[in-house]
Amino acid sequence: MEPALATPADLWNAALFPPSSCPRLVVKIGSALLVDPAGSVRRGWLEGIAADIAARARAGQQVIVVSSGAIALGARRLGLPKGGRASLEDAQAAAATGQIALSQVWAEVLGASGLVAAQMLVTLDDLEERRRYLNAAATLDRLLGLAVVPILNENDSVATEEIRFGDNDRLAARVAQAAGAQGVVLLSDIDGLYDRNPALPGAVHIPRVERIDPAIEAMADRGSASGMGSGGMVSKIAAARIANAAGAQLAIASGRIDRPLSTPARHTLFAAEKAAPARKAWLAGGLTAKGMIHVDAGAVEALRAGKSLLAAGATRIEGRFSRGDLVAVIAPDGMGVARGLIEYGDQDAARIAGTRREDHAERLGYAPRAALVHRNHMALL
Ligand code: GLU
Repeated sequence: MEPALATPADLWNAALFPPSSCPRLVVKIGSALLVDPAGSVRRGWLEGIAADIAARARAGQQVIVVSSGAIALGARRLGLPKGGRASLEDAQAAAATGQIALSQVWAEVLGASGLVAAQMLVTLDDLEERRRYLNAAATLDRLLGLAVVPILNENDSVATEEIRFGDNDRLAARVAQAAGAQGVVLLSDIDGLYDRNPALPGAVHIPRVERIDPAIEAMADRGSASGMGSGGMVSKIAAARIANAAGAQLAIASGRIDRPLSTPARHTLFAAEKAAPARKAWLAGGLTAKGMIHVDAGAVEALRAGKSLLAAGATRIEGRFSRGDLVAVIAPDGMGVARGLIEYGDQDAARIAGTRREDHAERLGYAPRAALVHRNHMALL
């Protein structure tokens, strides 16, 4: 039976990560929720989650989905042993086969809820290497701006063992960081962290974790209960660490109910660090800036109001740098106002400094980026 939800406000008060406090949410869905033991997609459940996502979208929340299930689905279709995880080649063939079906189902169920889906397959490198990280972040930003629901998965069919995330828990946390999301929900077959293996008698559920210390880490049991996905509690805690350090809260919740994004249920919440997110701290200190972007007073004001740095506000470019390098943003009085990852190399930055976006394509000879330094990749000083 559908839970009785009196008004949308009630719904959001009870639900995890309401749109009011979490404008951007990443939802990771584990393989066992997407694929049944016989190898078919659990379409009814997916339709429910699509309806949940649509309700959140109507309430103003931008939702990114990280969907597992390609290997599980493909393995069943190809009749591969061990859920397609007997060898890397098997996993890659299974992923390639399963992904095409998975994408189609997502497009269909979201389409039925009035939403457009987009597929992004990423590898670890895409989120580690700074230029590619900026590309992935910009694409996510644009899709969300267009009210599209990005569906992400690891590009398992090309990623080799050494460069794989291997589990979508950590991938989801990195995606949250790239997209500047405030919340991450890991939906799987378990409703949170227990003080020991939940199958053992006396295991106690932990509702909230303020700090991930060795005692919390010791609670993680290895392996995934369903045997379908690769992410056990160890990878979920690693994901929580990444998300929290980036300033996002992370919840582990069970997807073993219908409509898990609108039904209040038991979960474990990993609270975000109160201090400046680690990435911002890293941007603010640490590395030496490769160049300086001198800006006008209007730009300083815009940055302090939380906006991105637009080329129009730049008055002078100093230094030699490439796209993705760290630069310092300098106010008219010579004081540093911010540091961030630059979207252009120094020559192209100089070409568009002080000019409006309409003129950028002609000056650059290619489609311009949205900003010189995007606010998600910038720390104010
Ligand atoms: N990327 C894998 C898949 O689509 C899932 C990884 C995981 O189990 O977390 O099957």
